[in-house]
Amino acid sequence: MEKHELVIVGGNAGGIQAAICAQKHHGLKDIMVIRPEVITMVPCGIPYIYGTLGEVEKNVLPDTLLGEAKLKIGEVVSIDAKQNSVTLGSGEVIGYNKLVLATGSNPIQPPIPGIDKDNVWLVRKYPDYLKKLASAMDNASHIVIIGGGFIGVEFADECRKRGLEITVIEQLEHCLQLVCNEELCVRAEDALKAGGVNVMTGNTAKSIGGNDKVEFVELSDGSKIECDLVIIGIGVTPNTKLAVDSGIEIGTTRGIKVDEFQRTNINNIFAVGDCAEKYSFYNSEPVAVRLASEATREGKIASANIYTPQWRNIGTIGVFSTVVGKTAIAMAGLTDTQAERLGYDIVTGEAQSASKHPGTMPDAEPMRVRLTFNRRSGALLGGSACCTMTAGEVNNIMAAAIVNRMTMEQVALFPIGTHPFLTASPLAYQITDAASDALHKIRW
Ligand SMILES: Cc1cc2nc3c(=O)[nH]c(=O)nc-3n(C[C@H](O)[C@H](O)[C@H](O)COP(=O)(O)OP(=O)(O)OC[C@H]3O[C@@H](n4cnc5c(N)ncnc54)[C@H](O)[C@@H]3O)c2cc1C
Repeated sequence: MEKHELVIVGGNAGGIQAAICAQKHHGLKDIMVIRPEVITMVPCGIPYIYGTLGEVEKNVLPDTLLGEAKLKIGEVVSIDAKQNSVTLGSGEVIGYNKLVLATGSNPIQPPIPGIDKDNVWLVRKYPDYLKKLASAMDNASHIVIIGGGFIGVEFADECRKRGLEITVIEQLEHCLQLVCNEELCVRAEDALKAGGVNVMTGNTAKSIGGNDKVEFVELSDGSKIECDLVIIGIGVTPNTKLAVDSGIEIGTTRGIKVDEFQRTNINNIFAVGDCAEKYSFYNSEPVAVRLASEATREGKIASANIYTPQWRNIGTIGVFSTVVGKTAIAMAGLTDTQAERLGYDIVTGEAQSASKHPGTMPDAEPMRVRLTFNRRSGALLGGSACCTMTAGEVNNIMAAAIVNRMTMEQVALFPIGTHPFLTASPLAYQITDAASDALHKIRW
């Protein structure tokens, strides 16, 4: 039986990062990554295939990232934790000393009547499936997108670039509402509408109608939207069949239960990424946040810990960013609603100024930052940034401040470097000024 020191099941964000870190951290050479796809997609790039990138081939995750790890194309169908081996669909058995499960997630398939009609698509990550979706779009004129989360919004914005009519249906009051403050949701919706997308919020897709092929979507308010293609993007569910069949424990949000070192309940088996349970940074409760950035963070943690616990997972805060038209939307940590639900008494601070200084510099645009603090301890709980393209990086600074529990005063006073081409003015630097704004509210 072929045997490897480290076997990783799954070859996307989480699995690849686990392979990279095992080589860097332990100098490990004997690593095998197993996945069914010959080529694998940059998952976050999938919506952009249909607009900005233009083709599936431009969205490939390069296998050179794997370094010296070997890649086996195949599907693992069972794990024998007593023998320390996995069996592939082909019948081949591969032994391991350490095993990392990075089996990812599958799109949720809601029980909407008519979902099985032709031209109703889920957002899967397989290149062949995505190519077929591209061909289907070539012959479509009106796409209905069910789900106004990040995936739905990004698909809408990209597909409109093909000159198609697009309608987004979101059952909540706003698109992006699960992860963003209302102000950001409205900005995203306005940007979609400005691009010609029909946005229907507070409405549920009740059924999908037509003969064999989709012809319309019927909504909960009784209206019917004629269309010839439907994309469903309402979230994902962890892919845990392999783990369940092997007696590995599953958690409340249906991910593989792991401890702070990414260890499962079975010796020498770790789990990372979308298939693994996440725990809130704020109260350690399970949270259903599934992001490539989390998958890679966990891939690093698991690999560092394969021999002895070294790196601890501090928990998930949820760091999201996207762009609609020319409006960048970024949010780190808790929304105000989430913070209040967790029992925090909050105080917020805001700041807006030009992204460069003076504001007459080329490409200077307004950048707005909003921060939410715990009034009692002063700790930063959440932050949002919009609308310039630097919002994503500003958001990552806020994420670092949140996980380090920086207080209003610390955020207001942390050292910044500024430059006319690169940043806002030191007299109007958005993050520090938003913290000052909150500080002034509680002091005076
Ligand atoms: C359209 C879209 C846009 C997104 N945009 C973003 C974004 O902008 N930012 C962000 O952070 N996240 C984004 N995400 C989320 C991100 O894609 C996921 O969080 C990320 O892919 C998780 O990585 P993973 O490695 O855990 O799982 P996956 O990417 O799902 O990969 C799992 C791998 O395991 C393999 N596998 C499964 N079962 C087996 C088996 N039995 N044997 C062998 N191999 C197996 C799969 O084939 C696959 O290779 C987006 C997701 C989608 C769908």
